[in-house]
Amino acid sequence: MSNPLILADRLSAVKPSPTMAVTTKAAQMKAEGIDVIGLGAGEPDFDTPEHIRNAAKIAMDNGQTRYTPVGGTPALKQAIVDKFKRENEINYTADEIIVGCGGKQVIFNALLATLNVGDEVIIPAPYWVSYPDMTRFAAGLPVIVNCPAEQGFKLSPEGLEAAITKKSKWLILNSPSNPTGAAYTKEELLALIEVIERHPHLMVMSDDIYEHLVYGDTKFYTLAQLAPQLQERILTVNGVSKAYAMTGWRIGYAGGPAALIKAMSKIQSQSTSNPCSISQAAAVEALNGTQEFLNDWRKAFVRRRDLVVSKLNAIEGIDCLTPEGAFYVFPSCKGLLGGKLKTATDFSEYLLKEAEVAVVMGEAFGMDGHFRISYATSDEILEKACARIAKAVAKL
Ligand code: PLP
Repeated sequence: MSNPLILADRLSAVKPSPTMAVTTKAAQMKAEGIDVIGLGAGEPDFDTPEHIRNAAKIAMDNGQTRYTPVGGTPALKQAIVDKFKRENEINYTADEIIVGCGGKQVIFNALLATLNVGDEVIIPAPYWVSYPDMTRFAAGLPVIVNCPAEQGFKLSPEGLEAAITKKSKWLILNSPSNPTGAAYTKEELLALIEVIERHPHLMVMSDDIYEHLVYGDTKFYTLAQLAPQLQERILTVNGVSKAYAMTGWRIGYAGGPAALIKAMSKIQSQSTSNPCSISQAAAVEALNGTQEFLNDWRKAFVRRRDLVVSKLNAIEGIDCLTPEGAFYVFPSCKGLLGGKLKTATDFSEYLLKEAEVAVVMGEAFGMDGHFRISYATSDEILEKACARIAKAVAKL
C-alpha cells in the first residue's frame, strides 16, 4: 500500500534548526558513553533565580493556572511597558505589547502577519539560524547581506542601502548578536537609522534578546530608543530566556505599532493561545524584581569569554574577535581549510570526531569559514574543550 502521508509543500522551505541538531547529536554521543563536550547550546548554564521560581510557585498556589488573554496578562504587559520605559526610554501602551511562547514565536507571528509571497526580508549574515527559515515559511524571500569579520560582523549603511528594493518589507537587526556576540554602537545604529528613514516602506525588527549581556564599556542601544520618530515602523523584540536563564519557561515579548500587535495576536489566538500562565507570572517577577544577580552573571561571562578568546587565538589557523556581548564567539577556521578539510562543516565534524567537542558550523549562520562556540558553561569545561581543540588542530 502506498504511504498516505504527503507532507505540505511549505515544509520544503524550512530545515530543522541546525543548532538544536548539534545539541541533540552531542547528547546522543553522551548517552553512548562518549565524553563529548557540547558547546552548541544557546542558553545560559545558570539556574533561573530563586525569586523568579518562587513567583511561579505562588502563582500556581493562587490558582493562576487558567487561560489568560492571548497576548499576555495585564500584569505582564504592564511590567513590559514599564521595562521599555525604564531601560530603553521607549513609550509603549499595553495595546502595543504582545507576549508569546518565546521570542521565537513573537518573531514568527510578526513575519506570518506581514509577509506576502515574495516580500523581502533583509537579514545581515551571520544571522540567527531561524530568521531565513521563518521568512521562507511565511512565503517571504530572505535577502542575505554578508557582514564579514573585517566589518566586525555588522551591517554597514552602504550594505543596507544596497539591499533595499521596492519589495523590502523588513530589516532584522540582532544586537548583541547570535552567533557573533557583536553589539552595535549608538553611532552605528544612528548611521543605519539615516538609511531606514530614507525608505519609508521598510519595517525594522530589533531582536534585543541579548540586551542584558553586554560587557566592559559597551552600552546597549535599541532602534526605537534612538529613533522615536520611527517607532511606528519598529518592532522591538525581547524576552526573558537569555537574561534571566529562563529558556524553558518560553516567554518572549515585543513592543510595536498597535495594528501589527493586533495582527500578531490574531495569529497566536489560532495557534498556541496564551503563553503559559505560570511562566507569565514568573516573567513579571523577572522584569520587576531585582536585577542584581545580572552583575555576577556578566562577570562570569566576561571571564569565560576572555578565556576562550585567548585560548583559541593561541591555536594556529584559528582567529577569534573579542565580542561585546551575548555568550558566543564566532572564530574563523579559514587558516585550517584547504587541505583535507574544505568547509567549516568539515572542521566541525572533525572536532566532534577527533576532539569530542561539539561546536556549530558557520554555514548554519550563513557564513562559511567560521564556527560558533557557546561559552555559557563552566571555566573548567571551557579549558578542557580548548585544550582538546588545540590538540586536534595540531594533528591536521
Ligand atoms: N533571537 C535570537 C537571536 C536568539 O538567539 C534566540 C534564541 O536562541 C531567540 C531570538 C529566541 O529565544 P526564545 O524563543 O527562547 O525567547
